[in-house]
Amino acid sequence: MSNYKLGLDYAKQQDTLDELSGYRQQFHIPKDNKGNEVIYMTGNSLGLQPKITKNYINQELEDWANLGVEGHTEGKNPWLHYHEFLTETMANIVGAKPLEVVVMNSLTANLHFMMVSFYKPTSKRYKILIEADAFPSDKYAVESQLRHHGYDDKDGLILWKAREGEELANYDDLETILKQHGDEIAMVMIGGVNYYTGQFFDLKRIAALAHHHGCVVGFDCAHGAGNVQLNLHDSGADFAVWCSYKYLNSGPGSLSGAFVHERHANNKDLNRFTGWWSHNKKTRFRMRDDFDQLPGAEGWQLSNPPILSMAAIRASLDVFKTAGFEKLCKKSEHLTGYFEFLLNELNNSDIKIITPSNPKERGCQLSIQVKNADKALHDKLTDAGIITDWREPDVIRCAPVPLYNSYMDVYGFVERLKTILN
Ligand SMILES: *Cc1c(COP(=O)(O)O)cnc(C)c1O
Repeated sequence: MSNYKLGLDYAKQQDTLDELSGYRQQFHIPKDNKGNEVIYMTGNSLGLQPKITKNYINQELEDWANLGVEGHTEGKNPWLHYHEFLTETMANIVGAKPLEVVVMNSLTANLHFMMVSFYKPTSKRYKILIEADAFPSDKYAVESQLRHHGYDDKDGLILWKAREGEELANYDDLETILKQHGDEIAMVMIGGVNYYTGQFFDLKRIAALAHHHGCVVGFDCAHGAGNVQLNLHDSGADFAVWCSYKYLNSGPGSLSGAFVHERHANNKDLNRFTGWWSHNKKTRFRMRDDFDQLPGAEGWQLSNPPILSMAAIRASLDVFKTAGFEKLCKKSEHLTGYFEFLLNELNNSDIKIITPSNPKERGCQLSIQVKNADKALHDKLTDAGIITDWREPDVIRCAPVPLYNSYMDVYGFVERLKTILN
């Protein structure tokens, strides 16, 4: 255990000792109306903007201005290959092989495209298992897949619920569900890190369990990518998707990542929706050939991608690459542990952390449950210059992000919270 200490001096000292502290200067930190930097705790919702992002986007605007269509081949970063510039770093962050990863489309769109390939219901085995408190978009997406295949979305959906009076999903319950209903379940689709509780699921354990019962497994890692070591390849999952605008700091609505496990890389029998960008790169522009599918995750692309959005992703990935993702995860564990320590020291029964206390079962986010669902606490935090988010029914989500949040941010947060609670 770390021996965290109370007090301002400790926070200051930790920032001085932190070899990653300089990265904060590489980001635009929003300011309040008095011109003071806010304490930004919502990198789990929209990551902050790296200062280099503008340059990366400007480079592509300039090539477009100066070269027009020739930018596809003659640009400094030829657009025809632009998505390939992202693959290696992205694969590294999610723990996958480059062949298994592609950046394309938006998140929920990718989830649907993956389900087109991997959700193959039969009259006996058509159900989908999802965690009860899944992100709404994921729940709507799987329900619509059920309806699309002609099944009832109530009958077809099996929920993995937390027990009465508990907040976190329990693996024993998942085992029980699979034992009882495994042969009716076609697909298990779970949010890798739950958006509400911050619980980081054991992807490998879930994938093994689901495969044992003959189900396909996919994860939505929107709250995991850039936050925790997902080790997607080793997890054995069939597919995964995530967005780049949360912990990956690539701008509002920016493109999504998709993972397809290597064992499916050359499987041309998988049903899928295709477009010219799923076709063999060498012959794509002959335009008259029969469809010749690309191997790996790239074979799920449809369209030529939006370069300006990819430029923002590239800028952000370059920051991750220089900082080093392992180092970031190490700092994250310590910083969030410090946050937890200070909150627990408040010893105030109006608030309760519902995120797992085991660092291996969470990322940077702590979800603070507020007694009597009193949203006023969140609003007072906002007035005090702290940006967090309120999630119904009763949680304030706070995410100290190791790239740009400091120990002083965490200290300042808890000091202001203490004043408000008293
Ligand atoms: C943020 C998030 C989404 C949002 O989906 P978009 O298609 O990017 O709007 C979906 N699912 C999860 C789990 C998320 O965290």
